[in-house]
Amino acid sequence: MTGAPPDTLPTPLSLPLPYPVYCGADVRQSIGEIARLVAPSHRVAVISDTAVAPLYAKSIAAQFPTESTHLFTIPPGEHEKTRARWAELTDALLEWGAGRDTTVIAVGGGVIGDLAGFVASTYMRGLPVIQVPTTLLAMVDASVGGKTAVDTPFGKNLVGAFHNPSAVVIDPDVLVTLPDNVLRSGLAEMIKHGVIADAPYFDAVLSFADAIREHGGGAPDFVAAITMLITGSVRIKADVVAEDTREGGLRQILNFGHTIAHAVERVLNFELLHGDAVAMGMVAEARIAESIGLARAGLAVGIADAVVRAGLPARMPAGLNLDEVIAATHGDKKARGGAARFSLPRAIGEMESAEGTWAVAVPDDLVRAALMEK
Ligand code: NAD
Repeated sequence: MTGAPPDTLPTPLSLPLPYPVYCGADVRQSIGEIARLVAPSHRVAVISDTAVAPLYAKSIAAQFPTESTHLFTIPPGEHEKTRARWAELTDALLEWGAGRDTTVIAVGGGVIGDLAGFVASTYMRGLPVIQVPTTLLAMVDASVGGKTAVDTPFGKNLVGAFHNPSAVVIDPDVLVTLPDNVLRSGLAEMIKHGVIADAPYFDAVLSFADAIREHGGGAPDFVAAITMLITGSVRIKADVVAEDTREGGLRQILNFGHTIAHAVERVLNFELLHGDAVAMGMVAEARIAESIGLARAGLAVGIADAVVRAGLPARMPAGLNLDEVIAATHGDKKARGGAARFSLPRAIGEMESAEGTWAVAVPDDLVRAALMEK
């Protein structure tokens, strides 16, 4: 691999994770050196989508020797996070002759991170993967924690594996090309991090959301402000994941808003942005928390206000088939014995532990009432 000497390497964040997370403006220029350090290999397979490839993945691939590097692309979008694309990418790697001495570099949003991560986790029983998230959502959430998956017609992320990256490289400079709606969708997961663990962080995200609403990605000091917040989110996620890597308990709190979000996404055939679905899901699940007496009245309104301030939808889409949504919640990974379970907040910054299970069974009629509320 090519690149400058290792003493020019950026410093990773100090986190309780078994792999380094680098975060800072222009850090993507050091991916060649980082890969040589954390996952030295004979070949490099860069996986991206056709929108991100010309913007960033091509120049990242160019940091490695041409003869042993290949850029694989798929079309963008959630519809592409499938077993068919997993098979296609796997076959392309086989045809190219990739062996166990290959490092995968995933350059893109959460779709590419999850799909390329899953390809890496299964290819010849596991290749190292470096996650290079290029959406806000993937930076603050999807790239950290080692979850990889594809969707199926039965629901989201139902086929996958835990496969930690060898490194995560977060360069906030790439956010300037992100469409405004995709940028805002990332704010949903940041709001979630505030709700599940950190009230001051929740407030900081909202102040930033105000600036984004007014100025979009051109907000004053955008990169400096967003870098600080990304670091805050990654820290919250890392703390949770470090305690419960395989989602046996505490890690379920990262699912706040997601039982309903995943159900709505499935019913709407994955046409929604994930962050938009999470925003609606958080509001509905906060209503459930109030209705079963876990949270004080007012929490759901507070979260709905936050979501609206971030320019995200707080209400379910008109005409949504609630029977289908409720049926889809029963297929969630947290469901037990056919009953839907939810990770629910008691207050901003505090989640219900449910005696260490961090997930509460909720009857369908209460879920329906929360979905119907305007
Ligand atoms: P995405 O990956 O579909 O990206 C959204 C769009 O932005 C795509 O069209 C992409 O081409 C484009 N794009 C990406 N980076 C860009 C850039 N810098 N400039 C211009 N365009 C750019 O969507 P997403 O919101 O990043 O990810 C959603 C996925 O992440 C979902 O599948 C969700 O399940 C998954 N996810 C996974 C985890 C996890 O822990 N593994 C956590 C949260 C979400």
